[in-house]
Amino acid sequence: MNSFELITPASLAHAATLLEDGGRIAIAGGVDVVDLLKLNLIAPTAIVDLSGLAELQGIQARPDGGLRIGALTRLAEVGEHPQIRERFTAVSMAAAEAATPQIRNLGTVGGNLLQRPRCWYFRNPDIRCLKKGGDKCYALGGLNRYHSILGGGPSFIVHPSSLAPALIALGGSARIVGPQSERTVALEKFFALPAVNLAAENTLKPGEVIVEINLPAPPRGARSVYLEVREKQSFDWALVSVAVMLAMGPGSTVQDARIVMGAVAPIPWRSPEAEAILKGGALDRKRADLAAEAALKHAQPMSDNAYKVTIAKVLIRRAALCAAGIEAA
Ligand SMILES: Cc1cc2nc3c(=O)[nH]c(=O)nc-3n(C[C@H](O)[C@H](O)[C@H](O)COP(=O)(O)OP(=O)(O)OC[C@H]3O[C@@H](n4cnc5c(N)ncnc54)[C@H](O)[C@@H]3O)c2cc1C
Repeated sequence: MNSFELITPASLAHAATLLEDGGRIAIAGGVDVVDLLKLNLIAPTAIVDLSGLAELQGIQARPDGGLRIGALTRLAEVGEHPQIRERFTAVSMAAAEAATPQIRNLGTVGGNLLQRPRCWYFRNPDIRCLKKGGDKCYALGGLNRYHSILGGGPSFIVHPSSLAPALIALGGSARIVGPQSERTVALEKFFALPAVNLAAENTLKPGEVIVEINLPAPPRGARSVYLEVREKQSFDWALVSVAVMLAMGPGSTVQDARIVMGAVAPIPWRSPEAEAILKGGALDRKRADLAAEAALKHAQPMSDNAYKVTIAKVLIRRAALCAAGIEAA
């Protein structure tokens, strides 16, 4: 590990100015940053500690019925927050299931969205894969059990965040402050496919800091669910996760639907095809099956990860039925 300076910025503006220098990196809970340092995957000249910035703290109800979640909010707090649990259930379920109690007490919402991929080729300091400036994604023709089935490469990482699919299913956006200006971006548009940017998984620019995530008021009759399957019940990332938000009308009619999968593509993967099947009709098991089939229609599994297609279909079916209050068979 190289030696680096640790800087405590005096303000948010100061942090943004410091981070404009691409040789520096922000730290929040430090769960992923410390891992990356230890693996020598990053060698910053300085680490800018965001943890004292008041603007990034807290959870507040918004006057329009939505919710503001500061970027420094710990996953544990998101998982346990009564309002999030009741009105933004998928977000609470995703946060409460992520990682371990210790990591949830340290890891923050901003850091969770920005954590780097878990791909074993990417994390191996001795391998110069496509994402690290090499000429090849080793998952193709290599060990690809945990890699993507959607998104089309040329790098086959999956996005590891549990929170991201749930926040996207609920229409979340990020308020981002940079050295000169600020912007708000729908989280659905925040992440970047490898075909757009091989080096980064999102559109955050040097100097930009995520200040908060905003969730709009859920539509009338909204219910949301997050489900995941992982290899072991203790700490692990999801093999596949699914977040579903349904706005239900009379007689099990679906007025609106948002379906987002995690761990199947290099970005959280929304399925407009599946949503279209659910919208406007009464939800039953058959329609849930059709939606699941549509969501995975374009999946292109590799040698070891076709099982993800099956899991994703089962989770979509279960999550949709569960959000509609129908027992899955
Ligand atoms: C054993 C284990 C199991 C895990 N299981 C899961 C799981 O099931 N699901 C899951 O989602 N995650 C899982 N994780 C990952 C963990 O949740 C994340 O690493 C953690 O949430 C990162 O948050 P942090 O605050 O520690 O981020 P840091 O490590 O501090 O930062 C991560 C990245 O975000 C940047 N950053 C942080 N905050 C900001 C900000 N506000 N603005 C701009 N940049 C910022 C940093 O520069 C860095 O690039 C697991 C981790 C471990 C070690």
